[in-house]
Amino acid sequence: MRRQGRDPYNWSSDPPAGSGRAMLRIVKAPKEGTIDLVVLSPHIVGIWTHWVGDRTIGCTNGFGCKCEVTELPTRWKGYLACAQVTDGKVVLAELTGDATRNLMLQDNLLSGPPLRGLVLRLGRVRGSRVGRVVAGIVTGKRFDDAALPKPPDVQQELQRIWCSRR
Ligand SMILES: [Zn+2]
Repeated sequence: MRRQGRDPYNWSSDPPAGSGRAMLRIVKAPKEGTIDLVVLSPHIVGIWTHWVGDRTIGCTNGFGCKCEVTELPTRWKGYLACAQVTDGKVVLAELTGDATRNLMLQDNLLSGPPLRGLVLRLGRVRGSRVGRVVAGIVTGKRFDDAALPKPPDVQQELQRIWCSRR
């Protein structure tokens, strides 16, 4: 609605309806090169998922999941809330089962300190036909807990994303 007067802007103190907080982006290992992310979560949250059409959804086994009526491939995925090193934007990093297992073993993180504050580097094995995901911790870098934003609830964030896709 245009208003009279010299001010061309349409000021309002009420936010528009339905403009909730945006869903977090899921970041996977890039096809080329690597990406560095500052880990915000204390640990990885893993879940069995299905690849349906062109996207991943979490399996709600026993609660009306598509896999109860059709055969669907099932893959374990691990998720971590992270901040992008480039712009500080909070995202969800997605890791494969193999990448998670190797990460925990090679960096001795199973019984070690929490992941929060460490810098995660995601990439893919060069020349591997399927582009196997590799994840590692960048050595010698740890951000101070107090300098980082509070981690979002990864399960809740994933539910928001998957519910909007069903
Ligand atoms: Zn399922």
